[in-house]
Amino acid sequence: MGTKAFNSKVLKEESRPSIVQRMENQERQKKFEQKQKEVEKEIRQEQREALKQGIRPKFVTNKEKSLRMAEDEWALIPDQHQRTIVHIDVDCFYAQVEMVRDPSLRDKPLGIKQKNLMVTSNYVARSMGVKKSMWIKDAVKILPNLVFVDGSDLTHYRQFSTEISAVAQSFTPNVERLGLDENYVDITDIVGDYISPEYSAIEGHVFGDKEEDRKVLGDPCGCGCLQRLTAGSHLAKKIRQQILETTGITCCAGVAHNKLLAKLVSGYYKPNQQTVVFPWQAHDVMESLKQARSIPGIGSTTFKILEDLNISTVQELQNASLSTLHTRFDEETSKRLKDLSYGIDEGLVRKSGKPQSIGLEDAFKKTSKQKSWDLTSQTHQPAKGRLKQKVKERKPQRLKPKALLNLM
Ligand SMILES: [Mg+2]
Ligand SMILES: [Zn+2]
Repeated sequence: MGTKAFNSKVLKEESRPSIVQRMENQERQKKFEQKQKEVEKEIRQEQREALKQGIRPKFVTNKEKSLRMAEDEWALIPDQHQRTIVHIDVDCFYAQVEMVRDPSLRDKPLGIKQKNLMVTSNYVARSMGVKKSMWIKDAVKILPNLVFVDGSDLTHYRQFSTEISAVAQSFTPNVERLGLDENYVDITDIVGDYISPEYSAIEGHVFGDKEEDRKVLGDPCGCGCLQRLTAGSHLAKKIRQQILETTGITCCAGVAHNKLLAKLVSGYYKPNQQTVVFPWQAHDVMESLKQARSIPGIGSTTFKILEDLNISTVQELQNASLSTLHTRFDEETSKRLKDLSYGIDEGLVRKSGKPQSIGLEDAFKKTSKQKSWDLTSQTHQPAKGRLKQKVKERKPQRLKPKALLNLM
């Protein structure tokens, strides 16, 4: 299996654009290239002007260039803000499940173990210096009285996971499960009901959440995304509340116009909090990541190829030309990588239907310092082995193609 083919497969799985989308993409690509030329021309013009006036021409950094681009054509095209997506991520999932099952664990520092690994810890433990996940021998060095619960049997985690998704599904059927403790909820169809003066203030945080972020809320876009996402924050709060009432589990949520941004901001404030990000903040969100490897969907295999192309930061990916990317990726993947770097994601929320997750525990995600759900990563090897085992235990027809694909 060629790397090139593999990567495009992984990425395509996230988003398979329709013909209309493809045409829009081409249209946008044209616009982008045009804009790129304009910006370059503008800069040269400014530099020439400076020279004429005997001033040393200002060096324009790539960042400034991409900001100029982003402010215009690429990042703020109104027809891209039509959706409202909530990403829900349960706080220290396994630990919470155990604390709900045995409330006496609540005040104790708790770790969930699988073999030699503490796959997650509760916030009491974390406040005492234990990390989210660690080798057990290292965790007990920090905290000898750490209480461990064995988390090898996933049965009740699956039950809770199913219940959590079911709550989201009671709001809309457009729910996509991601592992056991994450859900994408596309609330585009129902968010309209929440646009009212009653819901005009934002619920929870805004990405950045500084004074100026709140002030920015004079509506720079005007397509209605401000109102939809604001209303979406109220709906997200309702879903989280309902999950808490039904299951006793708290979670975080990110609200955005696409899956990528919603996922990226959902853990921005945690635990048990939520964050909204507006389209005009996409650039800031992406910039906050620094490494392109941190973009969900860009796994270590893709990242290695990018590094071969001298691209490792988000900014370098933004500035990379499509033709450069195209030397190693197919056209669609090149486009998608570029989109991701700008916080653009047209990937649809795919209805998962009745939850039937295999044991894709997020444990191994946490063993890696990198934030990514890419499964090509070397660091995920042991977990992949476990997963393969689990898959063997299941009847093949119950597996979804996506789950299978992820294992390859
Ligand atoms: Mg989680
Ligand atoms: Zn908009």
